[in-house]
Amino acid sequence: MPLAEARVSVEDRGFQFGDGVYELIRTYGGRIFHLEDHLRRLEQSAEAIGLSIVYSKSRWKEILEKGHARSRYPDAKLYIQITRGAAPRDHSFPKKARMSVIVTVRTLVPLPTELREKGASVITVTDLRWGRCDIKTINLLPNVMARQKARSSGAFEAIFVRDGMVMEGTGSNLFAVVGRQIVTPPKGPAILPGITRDLVMVQAREARHPLLEKGISLEDLLGAEEIFLTGTTIDILPVVQVDGKTIGNGRPGPTTRRLCQQFLQTTRL
Ligand code: PMP
Repeated sequence: MPLAEARVSVEDRGFQFGDGVYELIRTYGGRIFHLEDHLRRLEQSAEAIGLSIVYSKSRWKEILEKGHARSRYPDAKLYIQITRGAAPRDHSFPKKARMSVIVTVRTLVPLPTELREKGASVITVTDLRWGRCDIKTINLLPNVMARQKARSSGAFEAIFVRDGMVMEGTGSNLFAVVGRQIVTPPKGPAILPGITRDLVMVQAREARHPLLEKGISLEDLLGAEEIFLTGTTIDILPVVQVDGKTIGNGRPGPTTRRLCQQFLQTTRL
């Protein structure tokens, strides 16, 4: 149905408590990109908050492909949101509620070419999020506040910093090139296990770039030769400024550019 006609109850626990999980998947050339990885993460997120998803992979595929076909968008953002459903407001789980499952299809507006070519600026913010950032929950208030702070100061993204260590962006994972080695914070409860992050790591290893999952201090980040962000809608985005400080020579570096080209190729397969 048209998005404007879709309705949920005011008692939906997604609306009341942010009690739900989500995924954002995209298409390239009209084909859904890495659906299985996204569905696996959705299942893990749901399980972590005590929900079990009943749709099979083929059912999801059918729903998403049908929605995409109906939309007629050449490339789309396919958004899935699952909440614990509508029930009288009470923090504990309702005995009788049906999960609300929502799928929306939106046209995918590519990032401005200039941003990609020149690289983005980011700011750093204190990480005020909870202890399970590996769950893709719809509770995104700290991300919302941080992203707004970035945009208000003319930056593209905000990077969360916890105890002097950089974690990830509000909607992206973070990589840096330090001493010619590509580094990225390790998976764990403090970051979202990005699908794009995994793909970039595989590709970097295939290209025999030295790559290490390890903690990155803010100091190391500011002194990095190159920095880039990864995410479903941005794929690989070079970063050339952090908190007003220029990174490298202020232009996307050779390692980042090589990885971008490599990534682009896989989206065309
Ligand atoms: N970290 C956070 C906090 C995010 O919201 C996202 C975007 N979903 C990512 C990282 C990147 O993940 P992915 O590559 O799977 O889009």
